[in-house]
Amino acid sequence: MSDSNLFDKIVSHAKEYGFVFPSSDIYGGLAAVYDYGQNGVELRNNLRQFWYLSMTRLNQNIVGLDSSIFMHPRIWKASGHVDGFNDPMIDNKDSKKRYRADVLIEDHQEKIRQKIEKEIEKAAKRFGDTFDASMYRTTNPRVMEYQAKIDRMDQILKEGLESGNLNVIKDLIEKEGIVCPISGSKNWTEVRQFNLMYSTQMNALDGGDDALYLRPETAQGIFVNYLNVQKTGRMKLPFGIAQTGKAFRNEIVARQFIMRMKEFEQMEMQFFCKPGTELEWYNYWKEQRMRWHKALGIPKTKYRFHDHIKLAHYANAAVDIEFDFPFGFKEVEGIHSRTDFDLGRHEEFSGKKLRYFDPETNESFIPYVVETSIGLDRLFLLVLSNAFQEESVDGDTRTVLKLHPAIAPVKCAILPLVKKDGLPELAEKIYEDLRFDFNVFIEDKDSIGKRYRRMDAIGTPFCVTVDHDSLNDHMVTIRHRDTMQQERVSISALHDILNKETSMSSLLKSI
Ligand code: ATP
Repeated sequence: MSDSNLFDKIVSHAKEYGFVFPSSDIYGGLAAVYDYGQNGVELRNNLRQFWYLSMTRLNQNIVGLDSSIFMHPRIWKASGHVDGFNDPMIDNKDSKKRYRADVLIEDHQEKIRQKIEKEIEKAAKRFGDTFDASMYRTTNPRVMEYQAKIDRMDQILKEGLESGNLNVIKDLIEKEGIVCPISGSKNWTEVRQFNLMYSTQMNALDGGDDALYLRPETAQGIFVNYLNVQKTGRMKLPFGIAQTGKAFRNEIVARQFIMRMKEFEQMEMQFFCKPGTELEWYNYWKEQRMRWHKALGIPKTKYRFHDHIKLAHYANAAVDIEFDFPFGFKEVEGIHSRTDFDLGRHEEFSGKKLRYFDPETNESFIPYVVETSIGLDRLFLLVLSNAFQEESVDGDTRTVLKLHPAIAPVKCAILPLVKKDGLPELAEKIYEDLRFDFNVFIEDKDSIGKRYRRMDAIGTPFCVTVDHDSLNDHMVTIRHRDTMQQERVSISALHDILNKETSMSSLLKSI
């Protein structure tokens, strides 16, 4: 199956099984806006909870926050978003489609990277066990040439973005012969900057100077509450503030389903530390966040770090965690060392001191900040892409979502074998006992095989079948989603089994 086929399948599966619907579906949808259905909301809540608890429960020095979407407009002036939150856009004159110029170049680089991987695969086959891939990367002329090309493009992109000379980016697109994916043509406009913030009015009747922005990131809500939390929580450096919430960006190029949305959710943690210690904490959080991802049972080969080629002027280190989506490696999370830029700017713009007094040294200073920032929706797409599998079973295809049990929308389905002889009543009793601790589902329609398949398709890790013997021996058959193996267990053991296998606490312990 080609990767684009796989991606199309994942998108239609997400709709068919109540994970993600286009927003305003009956009105023809709204571009780049999506709704989460009955299973999607459970999966999304579990992912959010996994993130939030891993931050606030596993770290004594990280606390939560829930700041508003609307904030004082000067905040966005101070943060630099009013003047600088832009994307470089380019239009194709034939298809009339607009693209992010840097993304067009990155996609082109990814194609070259794939060529490198193919060369290496071929060589590995040719040389067998003695093959040394890293040596091949640094000695094979063709591979080196591809890599040099990628590096050259990075360099030009960085220079163009840093200097604001967007012509060099246009020239690069032309020189590389990058074509519009829709029209296939190279008929491009100039590259221009577009601001991504949505604005509205505070008071309906006033015009002019009461413009409000819908926040394009949750982080500024943390910065402007830094002192409130530090003082009321009597927090000592280093400490962190974590928050999850909606953010809005007028993404001109909405592509790839929930990968790039206009309304999405972020999960951000700002870690305040002493100046001079920030790079230590940056490295700590870089490793820590990768461990968190791997705890979800996703192979490490599907992740990679990507250092930023263009550092924002206030950052002294920045890296993305990228995941191998069906359309290639893309950013899912950013880790940034932001120095004292944001707090410093808010001090300047608000006129309020945002200093930390260090009782050990009797000094006050603006703390430095290391940020971890991940999109909940991108994470959702990541786990869905990783979990989606089609398997041949007895001449049939089963579609199964191999989600980590702790994030699966439904933990266990209770299935009476037939709709009579007291089986539904016993199933109901089991359901009643389990529902306080687990999201359980009960169903008596259709053959047991069909019911199993439906549960596989939404990633339910366990199905429990209640049969005639259950009435006498108080045992049920529990079926494991991934292996499809079945075993007979006592009804009274179910709670412990589910707790061990599906609880959030086991997942948190595994980080
Ligand atoms: P990109 O380069 O892909 O636009 P970004 O570098 O602008 O992302 P950040 O501002 O660092 O993203 O935001 C942190 C995280 O928020 C990203 O890693 C991503 O997971 C998520 N995110 C950003 N923009 C969107 C969006 N439009 N839709 C969904 N998630 C998003």
